[in-house]
Amino acid sequence: MADTVNTLPFFYGNITREEAEDYLRQVGMSNGLYLLRQSRNYLGGFALSVSYSGRCYHYTIEREPNESYAIAGGKSHRNPVDVIDYHSQEMDGLVCLLKKPCNRPKNMQPKVGPFEDLKEKLIREYVKQTWNLQGAALEQAIISQRPQLEKLIATTAHEKMPWFHGTITREDSETRLQNGARTNGKFLIRQRDMNGSYALCLLHEGQVMHYRIDRDRTCKLSIPDGKKFDTLWQLVEHYSYKPDGLLRVLTDPCPRPDGVIGQIGRPPLPRDHPGLSSALQNAAGGLLFKIMSGIKKPHVQQPNIAENLNPYETRVPNNLVGGKEAMPMDTEVYESPYADPDELRSSTVDRKQLFLEDGELGSGNFGTVMKGIYKMRKTEKPVAVKILKNDDNNPSVREEMLREANVMQQLDNPYIVRMIGICEAENLMLVMELAELGPLNKFLQKNKQTGIKNITELVHQVSMGMKYLEEHNFVHRDLAARNVLLVTQHYAKISDFGLSKAVAEEQNYYKAKGHGKWPVKWYAPECINYFKFSSKSDVWSFGVLMWEAFSFGQKPYKGMKGNDVMQMIEGGRRMDAPLNCPEEMYDLMRTCWTYKADERPGFKVVEPRLREYYYDIAQ
Ligand code: AMP
Repeated sequence: MADTVNTLPFFYGNITREEAEDYLRQVGMSNGLYLLRQSRNYLGGFALSVSYSGRCYHYTIEREPNESYAIAGGKSHRNPVDVIDYHSQEMDGLVCLLKKPCNRPKNMQPKVGPFEDLKEKLIREYVKQTWNLQGAALEQAIISQRPQLEKLIATTAHEKMPWFHGTITREDSETRLQNGARTNGKFLIRQRDMNGSYALCLLHEGQVMHYRIDRDRTCKLSIPDGKKFDTLWQLVEHYSYKPDGLLRVLTDPCPRPDGVIGQIGRPPLPRDHPGLSSALQNAAGGLLFKIMSGIKKPHVQQPNIAENLNPYETRVPNNLVGGKEAMPMDTEVYESPYADPDELRSSTVDRKQLFLEDGELGSGNFGTVMKGIYKMRKTEKPVAVKILKNDDNNPSVREEMLREANVMQQLDNPYIVRMIGICEAENLMLVMELAELGPLNKFLQKNKQTGIKNITELVHQVSMGMKYLEEHNFVHRDLAARNVLLVTQHYAKISDFGLSKAVAEEQNYYKAKGHGKWPVKWYAPECINYFKFSSKSDVWSFGVLMWEAFSFGQKPYKGMKGNDVMQMIEGGRRMDAPLNCPEEMYDLMRTCWTYKADERPGFKVVEPRLREYYYDIAQ
């Protein structure tokens, strides 16, 4: 949303209420003159400033949990622009109708908040150090989990601020503030208990004042009767530019003795996060920068920034990590199994190191898929093992499986099921990463409460995996919801490379010799008519996969025969939007179903479109 809003001429970004009033005054303060700015106290929220009868009025546009926007207590809208459109027709509680936008002066860009500047560096450092990722894996983690990471960083960044002293006593806070320079406005924040209650301790004329900061039922922080904030750093930013009920504004952060932080709600974790401190030190931006440049020695032992996230102890699929939904990076199967050359040296799996468990994960005409454990030198890995049934009459199935293994061996991406190796024993076995929650279509059929945001997140991950395939000149040829497997409810991987082909870069398509046992309802017209398969025909299938996902695993073209489907497509007709499917997502499906392959976008275009929509609804 922020990106869309940024382009509005009457959006000013992170300016204060007073600055907003100045701009309205400069343009004449006519009745109904308005501007939009970023909320300085609510994450993802906005503020509307309106002039009327020579005065300025300010309204918070809150971002609600269901991803809509509303002026507190008012009607909900899809985005802040709709809120403005609505209030230009209806007063509905406002002092007057919104009449005229107060546009930014020429050449002025929306003001970037102090946290925006820092965010990129913080996220990168955080991911690098928490999950020990680098290169493409690091980039992919950030792209797929940006909204979650931004929130995590925003709500825990205070732990890295020098003014945050953790759970020290009231007496200790007074000693610390009285030590060294006794500047008026010197301050610190201490944690009072584990329920999210803090105290702001402020030096005023040689005396320490203590203001309680409590969390209300909606988790907002405030000093009694004061303005409410989502985060402690927003609260500090606010009171450092205006006293707003305090005896004075906050000026100098009181440094922590030796830079060591008090305990903050849970025992410190074993790992140091030096890079994060240095990222903070190097970053620029307003008072936040001034405050943060006081951070001491990067080598000090500091707890993990994420209060509730402890990726070191639990690496579990489908569970919660420390009470929060696991991110893909928290699972065993995010990082490449080939990352440690000591562990996976060859693509052959030794039968003695492979332990099969009871119970089938699934089956196909080749045989069954079982769960197993692969014991390596240092670690063991839960795996899925595709076991070829002993069928001497059908050597082609064996060849098919080896072909599949050959393709998989060349692929290494977090959103694709990776091959661990081939095991030749009592049967031929293909050992793969485990995606225990199984096929996406079945999961959604059983879990109808899954939210649109969650579905978009998963579909976006599939588009990331497909973009990788496209870049590496592979065509999947069987992309469908049944072939997307879930590691967790928030982590999808593309599987089943039985029909996949590497294509020549120059030619970029594969020409099948003849018609086979094909999933016609997922195939683009050129596949059926000319046997031509390319990344563009995978895009067509991806559109059908999206349709399946947003209709909670329903069968596409229900009740229709392959021939009828082809006639329908040739006649220019397409499937209707699934019930309650977001317009943006149906638009994208229709784009994927562009008749001519040349005019159809590639995953290079589809992935960013999905990403944009996902960030919009998730941030
Ligand atoms: P396939 O023939 O590759 O589509 O596999 C048949 C079924 O086995 C799938 O629909 C899944 O239910 C299961 N399966 C295949 N691969 C895996 C895997 N890597 N992890 C978990 N289940 C799998």
